Amino acid sequence: MSDPKLGTLAVHAGEGETLAVPSITTPVYLATTYRFPDAAEAAAYLDDPEGRWLYARLENPTVVAAERKVAALEGAEAAACFASGMAAITATLLSVLRAGDALLLSDALYGETTRLARDVLARFGVEVRTAPLGSIAAAAESAPPRVKALLFETPTNPTLRVVDVEAVAASCRRRGILSLLDATFATPVNLRALPLGVDLVLHSATKYLNGHCDHLGGAVAGSRELVAGVVRVRRSTGGNLDPGAAYDLLRGMKTLEVRVLRQNDTALRVARELEGHPRVERVLHPFLPSHPDHALAARLLRGGGGVLSFVVRGGYEAAARVHDALRLVARASSLGGVESLASLPVISSHRHATAAELAAQGIDRGMIRVSVGLEDPDDVAGDLLQALERA
Ligand code: PLP
Repeated sequence: MSDPKLGTLAVHAGEGETLAVPSITTPVYLATTYRFPDAAEAAAYLDDPEGRWLYARLENPTVVAAERKVAALEGAEAAACFASGMAAITATLLSVLRAGDALLLSDALYGETTRLARDVLARFGVEVRTAPLGSIAAAAESAPPRVKALLFETPTNPTLRVVDVEAVAASCRRRGILSLLDATFATPVNLRALPLGVDLVLHSATKYLNGHCDHLGGAVAGSRELVAGVVRVRRSTGGNLDPGAAYDLLRGMKTLEVRVLRQNDTALRVARELEGHPRVERVLHPFLPSHPDHALAARLLRGGGGVLSFVVRGGYEAAARVHDALRLVARASSLGGVESLASLPVISSHRHATAAELAAQGIDRGMIRVSVGLEDPDDVAGDLLQALERA
């Protein structure tokens, strides 16, 4: 072959030559496809894709690195990453359910998860049943055989209820029901759910796993076999995590433990300061002795988490005034980032909930949810106290 001409050099020169650089961090692989040296290797992919590369919707090295880190953090055989928490939940449910099956849901779930089940899955012949959070283990025990999976969360939003994960997982196992836990609020720092018997752990990586309010992602972790089933659905539905976002997630997870331990301490400190304040009716944080699940939280969780909620005396209008008087804590939904955020559940996460649903979950119209960040705890507590004084 004669020397390649300019157009060919423009495409090929230099490519791949720096791939073996011993970089301390994982490169962002943007390639959508990978070279095979020959037909034998291309054919070998069909028999055993492990360690081989075909196409970026099937596997991407930066995403694989993030998946290995999630699996390690959860003590799982395998993990899969997605473009959002909802993409992870969708692929998981599509993987474990068939038409004619029933899905059992806790009544204290992220609203979009409930809507996915009721408005989407139900159209494809999946029966959706709901059980009150306090009796999901009992509901699993008495469920008919067509119930194939139970989806629950702990701690819950915004009342931070803690579920006896081990008891729920054991009930599910006895009845052949897959237990699926959305542990976004818990993080693997505060709760290692798989050793307690849960089949699959899910995360909105948008929150603590990434931790910087600059990433949308999701993850599922569990046995190699169950995660492989979820990945098969992802191949067809295409909710893959972008490689650039996978890099951000890898970087975020490196500081997960230091962030969450600090957020645990700050949230508890702020919760203690608010408890007993004359303008505050009630404070909810799992590590406060006054929390209804305190004993369970102390047994199950390494820390109570970086979210606390409190009820302002005077109902919604009073809470809105406190919310509007904040100076440091940002008025924003979401949680788990380095910036402290506050929201009013009745106009944000629970805006679609009926009065009966709010009452069943103990969500007061005067409730403010705070996700503490990494600012100095004195400043976070001080801002909430000044807002209570000024409002
Ligand atoms: N699960 C929980 C507990 C959440 O709070 C959220 C989002 O707020 C989700 C799942 C959905 O995650 P994402 O927004 O990354 O799709």
